[in-house]
Amino acid sequence: MNSSQRIWIKAPLATLDNHCAGGIVIEGQRIVELVASGATPVSSVDEVFDAREHVMLPGLINSHHHFYQTLTRAYPQALNKSLFSWLKSLYPVWARLGQEMIEVSTQVALSELLLSGCTTASDHHYLFPDGLENAIDIQMEQARKLGMRVHLTRGSMSLGVDDGGLPPQSTVQDEDTILADSERLIQRYHQAGEGAMSQVALAPCSPFSVSESLMRASADLAKKHGVRLHTHLAETHDETAFCIEMFGLRPLDYLEKVGWLNDQVWLAHGIHFNDDEIRRLGEAGTGIAHCPSSNMLLASGMCPTLDLERAGSPVGLGVDGSASNDGSNMIQEVRQAFLLQRLRYRADEITHQKVLSWATEGSARCLGRQDIGKLEVGMQADIALFKLDELRFAGAGDPLAALVLCGAHQADRVMVAGEWRVLDGAIVGQDLNDLIARQKSLARKLATVT
Ligand code: ZN
Repeated sequence: MNSSQRIWIKAPLATLDNHCAGGIVIEGQRIVELVASGATPVSSVDEVFDAREHVMLPGLINSHHHFYQTLTRAYPQALNKSLFSWLKSLYPVWARLGQEMIEVSTQVALSELLLSGCTTASDHHYLFPDGLENAIDIQMEQARKLGMRVHLTRGSMSLGVDDGGLPPQSTVQDEDTILADSERLIQRYHQAGEGAMSQVALAPCSPFSVSESLMRASADLAKKHGVRLHTHLAETHDETAFCIEMFGLRPLDYLEKVGWLNDQVWLAHGIHFNDDEIRRLGEAGTGIAHCPSSNMLLASGMCPTLDLERAGSPVGLGVDGSASNDGSNMIQEVRQAFLLQRLRYRADEITHQKVLSWATEGSARCLGRQDIGKLEVGMQADIALFKLDELRFAGAGDPLAALVLCGAHQADRVMVAGEWRVLDGAIVGQDLNDLIARQKSLARKLATVT
C-alpha cells in the first residue's frame, strides 16, 4: 500500500474488542483511527474493504517455535516418547540439517503460521552443524520474502554428553563461537524501534544442554545490546531432577543464580513451578510462552497460566516446534489452550477472549513489544480476518466464540505492517504445491541420510 493511502476495514462481523465495531482505518504501516459501531471514519479514505463477513483479530503472535522441526513431523522413531528420550531420538537426525533444509522448513513454518492468522513469529534455532553457521541468516531472508515480522533467537548448546549434558557432542558449539555469532546477528538484524520487522534475542537452549558460564555470558551480552533472553524452563520432571543433580538447584533457582530472573526474559513452557516460584516469576515480570499442544503430546504437564498471570507474569502462546505439535497453526493453538486450561481453571475464567488475548497481547508482552498485539490507534497494522463460511461453522451463534469453539484453521485475509500478505486464503505470490513438494523431498532425504 502507498504510504499515504488510507484504507477502512469496514464494520467487521465481530472483533476482539467492541471499541472498533465500525472497523479501523489504516494509513501506511499503522492504525490511525478506530471507528465506532455504525459510524464512518472522521477523515476521508481512499479504499474501503467491507468486512461484514469477517471476524477481525489483531494479528496472532507466536512466542515459541523451532521452524526446522517441520522436517521431522510424526517422525517414526520419536513417536510416543517423553521429552528426554524424544530429544535423544531426534538430535542425530537434526545434526544432519543443511542449508536448503533450513530455507524450505522456515518457509513451511512461516507459511503455515501466516495462513492461520499469525503476523509475528518467534523462532528458537539452536543447531549449527558444520556448513550451517548461517542458519539464522537464511531464516531472516525467508521471513523478509514472506513479509512477516520475526523475533529470531540465536539458540545455543554448549553442554554435550561428555560434560554431563543431554545432546550428542557433535551438536554443541564452544562458547566463544556462540557469543561471537550472537553479536554478529544482533548487529546485522536487530531493529530496536517501533514497527521493527526483525528482532534478535539470545536463547541458550535449556539447563540440560547449556553450560552455566554460557547462561551468564549470554545475559551479559543481551544486556550490553538491549536484546531479550529466551530459553526452555520447567518443562518436565526429568528436567527438575537433572537440575537438582547437576547444579543442586531447582530450575528457577538455577535461573536466578545465572542472572536470568527479570523482565527481559521469556521462558518456553513454565510448567513445574511451585507457589513460591510463581510469586517470584511474577514479581520479576518474567514472561511465559504457554505451548499447550507440545505439553500434551510429550505428556509434560500443564502450565499454571492464570496463577502466573495473576502473580504478574506476561503469558503468551506458542505452537512450539513441529516435531512436538506437529503443526504450526496458531489459531488452532488458541483452541488447544482454551480446552487444556479448562481442565485446570473454571469455565468462566478461561474464556475465548482470554485465550485470544494470550495469542495477541500476551505474546507481544513476552517479546517486549508495545506496538503490536492490539487494535489501537498508533499500533502497527497487523490484522487477521477470518470468514465463517466453512462447514465447521454452519449454525454457529457468537462469531468470535465460533472461531475458537468450532476450530478455525485458516484466515481469509492477513495484513502485516499495512500490506496484505494473505488474500482469499492464499499467500500472495506463493506456489504452495511447489513448497510442499520441496519439503517432502527434503524430509525424506533428512530421514535417510546415514
Ligand atoms: Zn521448544
